[in-house]
Amino acid sequence: MLDIGSNRKKNYNNTPNLPTKASMAVKKHLHWLLILGGVSVLGTVMGVLPHNAEATRAPEINAELPLPEVAAQAPTAIAPATTETVAAIAPEPKPEPPGVWHEATVMQGDSLSRIFSRSGLSAQELHRVTSDKTSADYLKKIFPGETIKLRVDEDQLAELVYDYEINKSLHIVRSETGELRSELIEIPLETRITHATATINDSLFLSAQSVGMSDAVTMELSNIFGWDIDFALDIRQGDSFTAIYEEVYLHGEKVRDGNIVAAEFINQGETYKAIRYTSPDNRTDYYTPEGDSMRKAFLRTPVAFSRISSRFDLRRKHPVLNRIRAHKGVDYAAPTGTPIKATGDGKIVHRGDKGGYGKTIVIQHGNTYSTLYAHMSSYKSGLKVGSRVKQGQTIGFVGSSGLATGPHLHYELQVNGVHRNPLTVKLPNAEPLPKQYMDDFKQHSKQLLAQIDTMKRTSLALADTQ
Ligand SMILES: [Zn+2]
Repeated sequence: MLDIGSNRKKNYNNTPNLPTKASMAVKKHLHWLLILGGVSVLGTVMGVLPHNAEATRAPEINAELPLPEVAAQAPTAIAPATTETVAAIAPEPKPEPPGVWHEATVMQGDSLSRIFSRSGLSAQELHRVTSDKTSADYLKKIFPGETIKLRVDEDQLAELVYDYEINKSLHIVRSETGELRSELIEIPLETRITHATATINDSLFLSAQSVGMSDAVTMELSNIFGWDIDFALDIRQGDSFTAIYEEVYLHGEKVRDGNIVAAEFINQGETYKAIRYTSPDNRTDYYTPEGDSMRKAFLRTPVAFSRISSRFDLRRKHPVLNRIRAHKGVDYAAPTGTPIKATGDGKIVHRGDKGGYGKTIVIQHGNTYSTLYAHMSSYKSGLKVGSRVKQGQTIGFVGSSGLATGPHLHYELQVNGVHRNPLTVKLPNAEPLPKQYMDDFKQHSKQLLAQIDTMKRTSLALADTQ
């Protein structure tokens, strides 16, 4: 999936990467480091104490320690961020803040009120917390597997820490006067650029792993090139790829992979190149070196997890009519009820019974293209003639209405009114880069393409010496 329309700042959130075990482990003891980092930043910003420099150095040293003890000491360090706080961070042992820490893991079907009650807090305490809008907004989004840390003092909430992202947390502290104060703490992430190049010996994933590429990056690679290469059928031994991609670091530790910045894939002798580019109007997409979108205006397949049961054939014997009749489309066998996707953006021009086709939708895509979807069991509700649909949007469900031997989708593609084979016709690219950004894009891509060439040469040279 390409994250279209995202901007550079949000890149990290758009990565397809799932948290790895390692990153989860990092995350587990991370938040104390975050807090310490946050306090240290605060101390620096405030710059009020005469011994400020001394005092703020300490947490930075602590922050480097990957030891669980850091977490144990942390409550001492994160009392309210006042001027006294900074002093409290200094190495001298200070009394623990009152109360007991509870670490609540959010469970499936959990709610904040259950978490509070498990930690011995009343509904009134929950109400006190959620009457603050910031706290309420963030605590609404808790997700199974996340943890919320609560310090409970005499049946009252004294402190709450919720890491809603790997580098972002909500911190609630009870002030000396008894009210709760919330604060959002964010530690900036650092992006580093790395690269990998490999020749495929076994599978794409194994070859990628052998050069240190995570499955998440490999998945993104296959998404980028998946419009041109069928990664299930087309990959051959000897195919090769080079990828330049981001790695995201927090406090010097890698937390996850970022986006692919540029990549090349050589499949059966054919070279494909892609460059990630965010235009000045903040649209991000992958483009060829010529500025064409890597995406196509049409999906190759309107039904996921299906099997082609009949191909485009102008001299086929019809299975029901039992005589030669052109099969001007492709049949996808799939269970009744399987969603059918619009293969391109367009407008519905027919929705209804259409003779032997049964329940049928026809979509017009601009002036040149139209697609037809037949034998549906039902239409997606809300769609009618004139409705606009987006590529990949579900328009109906597989069935066997009309003349059909079993549940399948009969799919047709017409170019200028002529039936074409959807499996082999050359599909047009999605919107290319607007002309006014071409110079900026070329400037951006030139260096990346040169880098890819250098990497390929280096890895070839290495292979030669081995
Ligand atoms: Zn058919």
